[in-house]
Amino acid sequence: MKKIKVTMYFPANKIAIPLAYHLIKNYNLMVNILNADVSLNKVGTLVVDIEGEEKDIEAGLKYVRQIGAEYAVFNKSIIWKEESCVHCGTCTAVCPSGALKMDKSDWSLTFDKEKCLVCELCVKACPLRVMSVKNGDII
Ligand code: SF4
Ligand code: SF4
Repeated sequence: MKKIKVTMYFPANKIAIPLAYHLIKNYNLMVNILNADVSLNKVGTLVVDIEGEEKDIEAGLKYVRQIGAEYAVFNKSIIWKEESCVHCGTCTAVCPSGALKMDKSDWSLTFDKEKCLVCELCVKACPLRVMSVKNGDII
């Protein structure tokens, strides 16, 4: 089994295609939608985790291209140097996905890597440079 994170871009005339449904039903893939920017008559963007057998992932991505959409596989990940974090919460204000949150029980920062869109906003926002980008890590 393999898991990848992918951004998909839809032309405006393809926005109505239920892509996640087809990937699940026809290609036996698990698809977790992390972020969707989709509205009628506009180019749409979908960020998803896709999990499955390598051959099924390849076939599913081929299908994405066949219907006229484009995709880019993430090859970066975010590293949180937890021991240097002072839990000030600044990064949570810019995180669009909810990957960075304050735990209200003790006001400490939590980082849910699964939800991360690798937008890098937290890297720029952290005053102590605790967040950084790691290249070449397919997640
Ligand atoms: S902005 Fe930096 S120091 Fe503050 S909580 Fe986030 S990672 Fe920690
Ligand atoms: S890169 Fe940082 S700000 Fe962007 S989604 Fe991931 S944790 Fe949130």
